[in-house]
Amino acid sequence: MSVPKPKKALATDPSASGPASASAAAVRRRIRIRGIVQGVGFRPTVYRLATERGLAGWVLNDAEGVLIELEGPAARIDDFVQTLRDHPPPLARITAIECEVVPPLGQPGFDIAASAGGRKSALVSPDMAVCPDCLRELLDPADRRFRYPFINCTNCGPRYSIILDIPYDRPQTTMRGFTMCPPCQTEYENPADRRFHAQPNACPVCGPALALHDADGRPLASADPVRAVREALLSGRIVAIKGLTGFHLAADARNDAAVRELRRRKGRDQKALAMMAASVEAVARRALVGEAERRLLESRERPIVLLAKRPDADLSPLVAPRSPYFGFMLPYAPLHYLLFEGDFPPMIMTSGNLSEEPICREDDEALQRLAGIADLYLVHNRPIQTVCDDSVAMVQRGRPLALRRGRGYAPRPLALPIESPQPILAVGPELKNAVCLVRGTQAFVSQHIGDLKNALAATYFEATIEKLRRLMEIAPAVIAHDLHPGYFSTRYARRAAAEHSGLRIVGVQHHHAHIASVMAENGLDGDCLGLAMDGTGYGPDGTVWGGEVLRASPADFERLGHLAYAALPGGDAAIEHPVRAAWAFLVQAFGPQEAEQHLVGRLASASASDRRLWTDMISRRANSPIACGLGRLFDAASVLVGVSSESSYEGQPAVEFEAAAGSELDDAPPYKFALVDEASHLAPGEYTGGAYTGGTKSRAASDHAQGWVIDTMPLVRGLVADVEAGRDVATISARFHATVAEMLLAAAVRGRRQTGLSRVALAGGCFANDRLVRRLAPALESQGFEVYVHREVPPGDGGVALGQAYVAAAQLHAEKSNS
Ligand SMILES: [Zn+2]
Ligand SMILES: [Zn+2]
Repeated sequence: MSVPKPKKALATDPSASGPASASAAAVRRRIRIRGIVQGVGFRPTVYRLATERGLAGWVLNDAEGVLIELEGPAARIDDFVQTLRDHPPPLARITAIECEVVPPLGQPGFDIAASAGGRKSALVSPDMAVCPDCLRELLDPADRRFRYPFINCTNCGPRYSIILDIPYDRPQTTMRGFTMCPPCQTEYENPADRRFHAQPNACPVCGPALALHDADGRPLASADPVRAVREALLSGRIVAIKGLTGFHLAADARNDAAVRELRRRKGRDQKALAMMAASVEAVARRALVGEAERRLLESRERPIVLLAKRPDADLSPLVAPRSPYFGFMLPYAPLHYLLFEGDFPPMIMTSGNLSEEPICREDDEALQRLAGIADLYLVHNRPIQTVCDDSVAMVQRGRPLALRRGRGYAPRPLALPIESPQPILAVGPELKNAVCLVRGTQAFVSQHIGDLKNALAATYFEATIEKLRRLMEIAPAVIAHDLHPGYFSTRYARRAAAEHSGLRIVGVQHHHAHIASVMAENGLDGDCLGLAMDGTGYGPDGTVWGGEVLRASPADFERLGHLAYAALPGGDAAIEHPVRAAWAFLVQAFGPQEAEQHLVGRLASASASDRRLWTDMISRRANSPIACGLGRLFDAASVLVGVSSESSYEGQPAVEFEAAAGSELDDAPPYKFALVDEASHLAPGEYTGGAYTGGTKSRAASDHAQGWVIDTMPLVRGLVADVEAGRDVATISARFHATVAEMLLAAAVRGRRQTGLSRVALAGGCFANDRLVRRLAPALESQGFEVYVHREVPPGDGGVALGQAYVAAAQLHAEKSNS
């Protein structure tokens, strides 16, 4: 189709506001729509809106999105644009609508024109929950798709998970093996139909089907596999279920024996297990569901939502031991609606994998990898090309916060505040890895990939990069990576640079990336203060960072202050065994001799010889890196009050310590702490025995004096005194959280005095702690700070890749402007 050049660009046609007679005169407009507008039923919607209004013209997909020309009375065209803006198709994300005036052509009728050439890629939609129209048909005995588990339309169903390559057409999806029957084909070709160009369109005659296998992978004949699975679950068996974007392991969440057996077989000791419940009402009987939580549960993305437990919930205590939350999601695939029909009880629906491995993708793979875990397999023959874990989110201060970004969100792009001159790949950190690709201002954050120490996750990491590169047609010229030389992702970046001359790599400090990630999500491109609080990150000075007060711009940062260091005997071993971290903090707070007088909480379980060994390691700095992560302080506190002794998953002691506060009010009085100059601060191992008086020492102001330290040792001493005075754990936990909030507030105030900046970004895994944020954020705001936090991107390491990408983009941008 030839597209004539427009005469001029105008946001609105002046004739629209002219005399009444002008409204009847035909005008012609060209309308450009950008965003996620392909493969989401956009053209049928345009077709319907145009024909309803008697407008002539055409619509087509092209490289930039959707292009429309409309001819008719100006007022009706305005109404068309307004309606499209207000009510786009459910899966569409419109980022821009641009109108131009073009000469009227006098053509009658409205067409959906063939796609124009150019770049093949449009934005790929995430995989979405079944829509209300399909759900109605699913449960309608008169519908030809009654109880068909793979019902979908342009407004719902699989997308990212089934795409093999672009353009997004059926032969390029895992539906290519299924030939549509005549009624399905008719729907597919009818622009007025909800299934017009719905690539996964299918029905019981022509589409995928369920199958059941026993524990050994042998097919089981069953007239009604859904019913067989429901019965198996109710009788306490563990069932592997292939869903929309991967496998789940399901078990009755009320059944102790079933949950215990699932934990044993899956090798997952402690971490909370996600559940699916039939309805919001079923969730609300077991957990606290406010309006914001309800909206999040029912959103099309259908994340797992963390919800405060109801004490009288009829669920096994083994579902989420020592966590303040239950993780619930609602059914999202049509199959789930069938499984949970009626008032079917809540089921564990945990990712179908062994701990730390990626979720299973294919039937054969699942039968092999889940052998010995599942008693029964409910599978289907629609292949999953890309697996996505369920997303996890919570409501924090009334707004959703992503904790794991996966199904429903990936690979929807975020908008960077600046345009990158070159395409970028950011490879993320080691744990909770996700990657990010940038083209222009679009940042595509991948789904959660996982822990790259795991070989399967590392393979999945490379496959995800390849897939995103292909789908988004991005050939990175720059790779941004963490500074840690040992990370798998860093080594990947260095290897890529070595193999491809011209490919440039940019190292980005971990906590700068955290803060830049919040800045990217909030559209900040100037300077701000950053509080980056997490467990561990590689510091450029050879120490382990994680309690950082930064002055940050997208391209650069300065470390203003940090939490006090402690030397962690054994390094990583002190993370797995937080008793070591607790001892390190105790020694730091009291000195080694006096520490022996304060063996509180779980520290009592450490033998005298262990303590001697650790003290020796600390004083000699033998395999005892010095670290200032707030996460380690949480670990130590949790041990010292007797809540935790091990960390079987990342952040476990902190989760348990937060839970220990229970319903204790937020107004607990804080412990003491101090802000001191770096030069006067006692470094770990610098205690000299004898009369140890505190965490500071007198030393003449040195030339090296720079920055300041939040001395947490008064806090440790106060907490230990409370334990020794027999105060209850809930009070101590509440006081601890209040102290951390006070410390961070004081740090922000000092940072503002130093820099004049009152914008403060909060990032790092510690800000998943609701009790902390609930106290800190309002305190900052009442002191006149503008507080920026994550929403759609996780505050933990899942958000690092976006920050790396933004830092690299900002550096490239600055170089370009300077040259
Ligand atoms: Zn639908
Ligand atoms: Zn069919």
